[in-house]
Amino acid sequence: MSVLKPPTHSINRSNKMSKLHLLRTCQYCQSLFIPKHHSHYKHCSLSCRFWSKVEIGPHNKCWIWKAGCFTDGYGLFKIAGRLKRAHRVAFQLSHKISPGPAQVLHECDNTICCNPDHLFLGSTQDNTADRVKKNRSARGSKNGSAKLMEADIPKIRKLLFQGFTQETIAKQFKIGQAMISSIKRGECWGHV
Ligand SMILES: [Zn+2]
Ligand SMILES: [Zn+2]
Repeated sequence: MSVLKPPTHSINRSNKMSKLHLLRTCQYCQSLFIPKHHSHYKHCSLSCRFWSKVEIGPHNKCWIWKAGCFTDGYGLFKIAGRLKRAHRVAFQLSHKISPGPAQVLHECDNTICCNPDHLFLGSTQDNTADRVKKNRSARGSKNGSAKLMEADIPKIRKLLFQGFTQETIAKQFKIGQAMISSIKRGECWGHV
């Protein structure tokens, strides 16, 4: 009976050979990998796919989400067809714990920031209290929180078109210049 079995090492070799053409280089970490799913052929892992969309900078600066956003200004990241908030994914990937039902809050008040050092866990009440406090204290200051209405987006695009600087527009709408920049690049609010 055993005589009929082909030698196992030749099977392994032919399997390896047939998979070589599937090998790809991760566009983020440069490691070689075989994609499990044809739609995820650019990155070796969820983590690499996620961080490739973040403008990673020094720890004391905001790390800006470069891809699409929800209408409320939070970054949008798709996992297996489900829409996730980018800052929550950033928290989960870097702290290796799921925020579960808790809110992930920004101490920098920049909704598109994914710097784990700027994220902390809180309750919905904390979030509301935090926003009220920040809005109150930031009123009239250049650190005003990002509070954009959908109706503001066409106005901002028009001002950009007219040649106003990003800094001027950011001041007028009391939002960060990074937000104006991403609106200009069409990364946030692309649907408006
Ligand atoms: Zn990778
Ligand atoms: Zn930040």
